[in-house]
Amino acid sequence: MTGLMKGKRGLIMGVANDHSIAWGIAKHAAEQGAELAFTYQGEAFGRRVKPLADKIGTKLLLPCDVEDISTVDSVFETLKAEWGKIDFIVHAIGFSDRNELKGLYADTTRENFVRTMVISCFSFTEIARRAADLMEEGGSMLTLTYAGSVRVMPNYNVMGVAKAGLEASIRYLANDFGPRGIRVNGLSAGPVRTLAGAGIADSRLMYNYQQRNAPMRRPVTIEDVGKSGLYLLSDLSSGVTGEIHYVDSGYHIVSMPTLDELKR
Ligand code: NAD
Repeated sequence: MTGLMKGKRGLIMGVANDHSIAWGIAKHAAEQGAELAFTYQGEAFGRRVKPLADKIGTKLLLPCDVEDISTVDSVFETLKAEWGKIDFIVHAIGFSDRNELKGLYADTTRENFVRTMVISCFSFTEIARRAADLMEEGGSMLTLTYAGSVRVMPNYNVMGVAKAGLEASIRYLANDFGPRGIRVNGLSAGPVRTLAGAGIADSRLMYNYQQRNAPMRRPVTIEDVGKSGLYLLSDLSSGVTGEIHYVDSGYHIVSMPTLDELKR
C-alpha cells in the first residue's frame, strides 16, 4: 500500500538521531506521502536532525524546548503561517534526571518530579491544545508511553508516574477533541535502545530480559513502532481514539517469565 498519507501534513517532535522512535514514525509517514515538519531541542540536536530531515525532504525544522512555552508557541505560529492547517502530530518527548532513574521511587525530589511531569506529561496537553486549533478538518495526535505507567519496572520510577499521567491525558484529550474529529492515541513501546532509554539505570538488562520473555522472543525496533504509528496517524484507524496501543512483542500480556528463565 502506498500513498496512505498523501496530502497530509504533520509535526514530528522528538527526533534526536536515527535511533529515535520519532524517526521510525517519521520515515514511515514520509514513505506514505506525508509532508513533515520537525522540532529539535537546541542547536546540537538541530545539527544531528538536519541530515535526517533532508533525507525525507522535510524543510521545516523548528527549535523547541517544551520547558520554554514561548518556543512551543512559535512552532505553531510558524505552522499556521506556512501551512494554515495540520493533520497530525507526534509527541515523542520525555525527560527525567538520570540520577533518579535508579534506586527508589520514594527518593524522587520535588524539583525533578515537577520537571519530569512538565516535560514528559503536561507538554503533550499544551501541544495538543495548540495543534487542535490548526485541525479544523479533524486530525490525529500521537504520543509515546511505556508499560512502567501501569506496572512497576526497576529504575523507571518517576517516569512511570509521568507516563501514567500521560496516558490519563490521552483519554481526557480524546474526549475533549473527539467531537471535532480529532483522535488522540498513545503507543506503548517495548524497550528500544535510544538516547532517552540509555538514561535508565540497567536498561540493557531490562531490554535483554524482555527479549527473552516476551511472547515473540525479540525486542521491538523503531520500524515496528513506526508502522503502528503510521496506522494510528492515518485513516486506517479512523474509528480509534483514547487508545493505548502496545508495540512490545506482546510482553504486557505475560505474568511470569518463561520456564527457561525460571530454570536459569
Ligand atoms: P530519544 O532520546 O531519541 O528522544 C527523546 C526526545 O525527547 C529527544 O528528541 C529530546 O530532544 C526530546 N526532549 C527531551 N526534553 C525535551 C524538552 N525539554 N523539549 C523538547 N524536547 C525534549 O528517545 P526515545 O526513546 O525515542 O524517546 C521518545 C519517546 O518514547 C519518549 O517519550 C520516551 O519516554 C518514549 N518511549 C521510549 C521507549 C524506549 O525504550 N526507548 C519505550 C517506550 C516509550
